[in-house]
Amino acid sequence: MADMTLQELVPQVAAVLGGVCNRGIISDGGSVLVIDAGIGVGEAQPLRAAAEERVKQGYLSLFNTHSHGDHVFGNSVFADCPIIAQDAVRTVLAEKGEDQLAGWQQNPQMAGLIGAARLTLPTVTFAERMTLHLGDLEVQLIRVGPAHSEGDAVAWLPGPRVLFAGDILFNTIVPAMPPGGDSAGWVRALEYLETLGVAQVVPGHGPIQPPTAVGQLRSWIIALRTRVAECVVSGLDRDATIARVGPQMQNNLPRGREERLPNAVGQVFDDISRERRTAQKDG
Ligand SMILES: [Zn+2]
Repeated sequence: MADMTLQELVPQVAAVLGGVCNRGIISDGGSVLVIDAGIGVGEAQPLRAAAEERVKQGYLSLFNTHSHGDHVFGNSVFADCPIIAQDAVRTVLAEKGEDQLAGWQQNPQMAGLIGAARLTLPTVTFAERMTLHLGDLEVQLIRVGPAHSEGDAVAWLPGPRVLFAGDILFNTIVPAMPPGGDSAGWVRALEYLETLGVAQVVPGHGPIQPPTAVGQLRSWIIALRTRVAECVVSGLDRDATIARVGPQMQNNLPRGREERLPNAVGQVFDDISRERRTAQKDG
């Protein structure tokens, strides 16, 4: 694992790079908000130490962008702080978190990254949005899911126009599209983020790139959905759709992590099949 590095985006706002997922530290007025804890103790402890250096007369809190283990299993290092998330993050973790943690610990490399972490649920949840005031800095936590997962939310700083997008944005790599997400909702989420007027955006995974990356991922998901829909309409089953669309998408950017394509195509097949059943019922 690469060492943790802080990349200051504007004064008091840093992207934290070098972990399995990208994280963030926002501070002002002596209070600090950490964006995502990382996969386990090894990532979360230096993150907390860097955050503690900035806590003065205020408070330290943690925001989980969504429920996936690479973002939340480090929560136990912040168990004495308010841990904030969208309602569904707590619900999903309460139902499935222990199984996910046990499953990931079967993998020796994952187990090493997770360390002695225990499942730690968010303690402050919101339905649509919540605003934190760190000194003069306003941080809006905004629900944008279901998209990549059921409880996706982003952290938007309207002052410096900085966005922490969580896994709504993957840069230069094929996005993970696991069960529980919704590709149509993901397109809507990206469309919404494009309306914000973002100056700098931190993706959940991949390098920091200009905000045009948001539109590039939207176009990629729309292209994937279009190709899968053509297969569904022509009567191909799930496996045949994966066999046809996977290689087609190999030729599209992004090129990294192409081994995710079969799962992504399968997930979009399930989404579009469900949308068609709903439309037929309603029609
Ligand atoms: Zn994720």
